Amino acid sequence: MIKRNTGFANLTAGYLFPEVARRRREFEEKNPQAKIISLGIGNTTEPLPKFIAQAMADYSLGLATPEGYSGYGDEQGNTELRAKIAEVWYKGMATSDEVFISDGAKCDIARIQTLFGSKVKIAVQDPAYPVYVDGSVIVGAAGKNNGKGYKGVTYMPCTPENNFFPDLSVVKKNSLIYFCSPNNPTGACATKTQLKTLVDFANSHDCIIIYDAAYREFIRDPELPKTIFEIEGSRTCAIEINSFSKPAGFTGVRLGWSIVPKELKFADGTSVNKDWNRVMTTLFNGASNVVQAGGIACLEPEGIKAMKDVIDYYLVNVKTIEDTLKGENFKKAGVEIYSTGNSPYVWAKFPGFKSWDVFDKILKEANVVTTPGSGFGPAGESFIRFSSFGHQESVNEACERLSKLVF
Ligand SMILES: *Cc1c(COP(=O)(O)O)cnc(C)c1O
Repeated sequence: MIKRNTGFANLTAGYLFPEVARRRREFEEKNPQAKIISLGIGNTTEPLPKFIAQAMADYSLGLATPEGYSGYGDEQGNTELRAKIAEVWYKGMATSDEVFISDGAKCDIARIQTLFGSKVKIAVQDPAYPVYVDGSVIVGAAGKNNGKGYKGVTYMPCTPENNFFPDLSVVKKNSLIYFCSPNNPTGACATKTQLKTLVDFANSHDCIIIYDAAYREFIRDPELPKTIFEIEGSRTCAIEINSFSKPAGFTGVRLGWSIVPKELKFADGTSVNKDWNRVMTTLFNGASNVVQAGGIACLEPEGIKAMKDVIDYYLVNVKTIEDTLKGENFKKAGVEIYSTGNSPYVWAKFPGFKSWDVFDKILKEANVVTTPGSGFGPAGESFIRFSSFGHQESVNEACERLSKLVF
């Protein structure tokens, strides 16, 4: 028989979200009357803005007419959408032929891994969004897990002690550095000075940064950078991955993009943009044309306003969660809150507790589902991630219950 891809054998079990779901199910079976509220999964909950949904409906009906019909489009994406992204979101910091439209950021991260192959070294923030490492293991760029982490992966702890910005001196030359800001799960948002440090390091150590900016529209502090391309020197060392999932509620609709600057080169001097174009035209066949019409609508003034309103709605939840965690009961337990108000997540440390124990206690006593920080990496131990994605009434009720917990 055909041998199994060793990457799959190397992946350790204990995927975070299935385990969260299993514990929730087990609790629900024993307590069918419990009204569980989730502050757990990073999935959007509010309806699509009407203006954006209408654009997709109109495009879709147009497809039923001879004038409106189109088949395959350019694999790199609709020309108008590429230009609009370059103009609205990058304000000239990227050109439209550096923008590649896709079916989402997670899928782009997976394809990026085929671009660099199995020999590349990996560095990730710890804790981190799981696909950076798990995807690297699948393509063979990372090896077995020895209990402390996967072989070939350099973990860069991001903790309150270093203000959630890693010590880059641990990163080896010629590494791919995955960096997410605003961060999932910690909510930390890197400053321009911090990103300059990262960019300078990457340029001087022949590294490439894969910059995941999926939460950029949550940034409310005008001093904070919304893209890595605001940083001088980034065009020779960075790729940006982004998505309409979080700003426009497109988690189910599916639309993302990547930016690969033309100055970015491999060791032999060839263009990364050129190979990325090859990956996108060979392994991908373009994002849905209906959905791309929705993306164009997002970037019209009315769409931009609608996206801001939805994010403002979630940011109210962030404030409610923060205020709850500042309550007397949490204070007594020594709980430390890390939330910048520039991301949908509140990251909280429960000193002396294990993440899964806090998770279980909150589930059993408050019937609220959270996400244990340890599931995002060893440096997440003792932390809990609270997500603000939810209807305000449910988040308010969850917070009411949390305020009665005794630790
Ligand atoms: C949600 C999320 C994404 C978005 O993924 P899509 O595939 O576009 O839905 C990307 N990166 C991070 C860190 C996320 O949390």
